[in-house]
Amino acid sequence: MKLDRVLPYSKKILKLALAEGDIAVDCTIGNGHDTVFLADLVGQSGHVYGFDIQKEAIIATSELVLNSGFTDCVTLFQESHARLLELIPKTEHSRIRGAIFNLGYLPGGDKEIVTLAESTIAAVEQLLSVMEKEAVIVLVVYHGHPEGQVERDALLDYVTGLDQKKAHVLQYRFMNQVNNPPFIIAIEKK
Ligand code: SAM
Repeated sequence: MKLDRVLPYSKKILKLALAEGDIAVDCTIGNGHDTVFLADLVGQSGHVYGFDIQKEAIIATSELVLNSGFTDCVTLFQESHARLLELIPKTEHSRIRGAIFNLGYLPGGDKEIVTLAESTIAAVEQLLSVMEKEAVIVLVVYHGHPEGQVERDALLDYVTGLDQKKAHVLQYRFMNQVNNPPFIIAIEKK
């Protein structure tokens, strides 16, 4: 057998968590690949809310969403994910069943604009405060760049401190690979 690689495994978790009609959140839309993946899972009766602070990401994702036929079930915000509860309609909060963060910088974009622990953790806390039991948050942690290492350490500290009565926390990581390969943190609300 082949063990699931990191990115396919992140998708597998979301596939298990999400069904038609659910609400999903793409917390770092980048070029929009995850946004479209989530839209395909929740379908026209569900909805995906996407966040990115960069205009390029919003433009690239809007185009991909349009070309994939998902315009009606996707809403994009050029805002930090740290504002997600303010921006996602309140009536949708408890219907959020899955969220993804692909941390780091925009592929092909400005490598100086990266996700930061403070806003990442703020967004995770907001999601955990409203999500129902068994909803999941998947974080793909890229830590090859200096700020990524700071974010990784802060995140690992934060998630290991989460009360086990409130969440299951999984780390999925290939331990013998060189050059800081990405790894997954998955949080299931209990
Ligand atoms: N999932 C994306 C894809 O499929 O192309 C890749 C995401 S990329 C690794 C990380 C993205 O996070 C960048 O586009 C960056 O602009 C965005 N970002 C950084 N800080 C953010 C924040 N506070 N809120 C939302 N997005 C942020």
